[in-house]
Amino acid sequence: MRVFVVNSGSSSIKYQLVDAESENVVLSGLLERIGQPGGDAVDHVDGMRVVLERLGDHAASIVAVGHRVVHGGSAFTAPTVIDDEVEAAIEQISTLAPLHNPANLAGIRAARLAMPDVPHVAVFDTAFHQSMPAAASTYAIDRAVALDHGIRRYGFHGTSHEFVARRAARLLDRSLESLKLIVLHLGNGSSAAAIDAGRSIDTSMGLTPLQGLVMGTRSGDIDPGALLHLLRAGLSIAEVDALLNSRSGLLGLTGSGDMRDVEAAVEAGDADAALALEVWAHRIRHYVGAYLAQLGGLDALVFTAGIGENSPELRARALDGLAHLGLGVDADRNAVRSRDARVISSEGAPVSVLVVPTNEELAIAQAASALVG
Ligand code: AMP
Repeated sequence: MRVFVVNSGSSSIKYQLVDAESENVVLSGLLERIGQPGGDAVDHVDGMRVVLERLGDHAASIVAVGHRVVHGGSAFTAPTVIDDEVEAAIEQISTLAPLHNPANLAGIRAARLAMPDVPHVAVFDTAFHQSMPAAASTYAIDRAVALDHGIRRYGFHGTSHEFVARRAARLLDRSLESLKLIVLHLGNGSSAAAIDAGRSIDTSMGLTPLQGLVMGTRSGDIDPGALLHLLRAGLSIAEVDALLNSRSGLLGLTGSGDMRDVEAAVEAGDADAALALEVWAHRIRHYVGAYLAQLGGLDALVFTAGIGENSPELRARALDGLAHLGLGVDADRNAVRSRDARVISSEGAPVSVLVVPTNEELAIAQAASALVG
């Protein structure tokens, strides 16, 4: 069951050929600067032609193509086989994700042209969170305005949260249905999710991937009044957009959006970097506390993504002061560096704390193969 996984950006195509059963990556690659001088392709259609050339004889082994799609709106609650109608629906949802969905769609259209004989499956970042109760997904604004503009919490990183939740259950040798979980996806983009019996009941990202935790370059939570204030002060919409999406988060607070730089700066005695880490951890604890309350108990807290998988110091820091809630790491177990899923809380701790590496490409491949298989 080889699935070709495509993650199409506005000027890039990332791809992987994955064996969904053995979980082996047969081949992977990246086209960059599409449509730019000296780039790998003139457009996405040309890009897919290049990709097919690179695939060579492997192309014949592909049983499905899995496409990462950022926003599925309220329409898509699960991976979906793509036909013209689904394409049109993804296009319609583009108003909610103007940077991402058109780029994803360009990849879908090009890949369907290049590989017309296999099913193409859209796997949505938002789909897993469609199980959230209305109490969690509803913003308290005029109902008619919200409905007209599709304004509600959708949540993102769903493919990762679901994959990590399943792996966590396997590691604990428990059924997913029996578990209350908090997953902290801490990477360049970051989000938290509360997962009860395998269903997302709350998550920190919202209408867009801007809400919630402190990220590499995104602000996360901020009073919407601050936006109005900046607009009234004369900043343009584009300037406010760039400020919050591209010049905020760790980058805004320290000058670098890369957590390794921030940690190095703290080591060197930089006060801004020290504050940035405090804000980062404070925000994480804010959501952990909230989700404990929403879940009404907790079996395991799971760290994943670049920071969550690789930084023992920051995992410890994120849970600092939460021992009274049964949450903490065992120093020796936390210090172990490994690519495998593992428990890092002490033996017999009231709440298990885990590190579970995420793998969105594999998750997309498995979702696609399950759907067409
Ligand atoms: P991701 O978006 O999941 O690839 O995660 C990227 C983030 O993980 C960046 O902020 C990296 O600085 C961070 N990261 C990767 N390795 C480490 C590490 N060993 N310690 C701290 N942060 C790390």
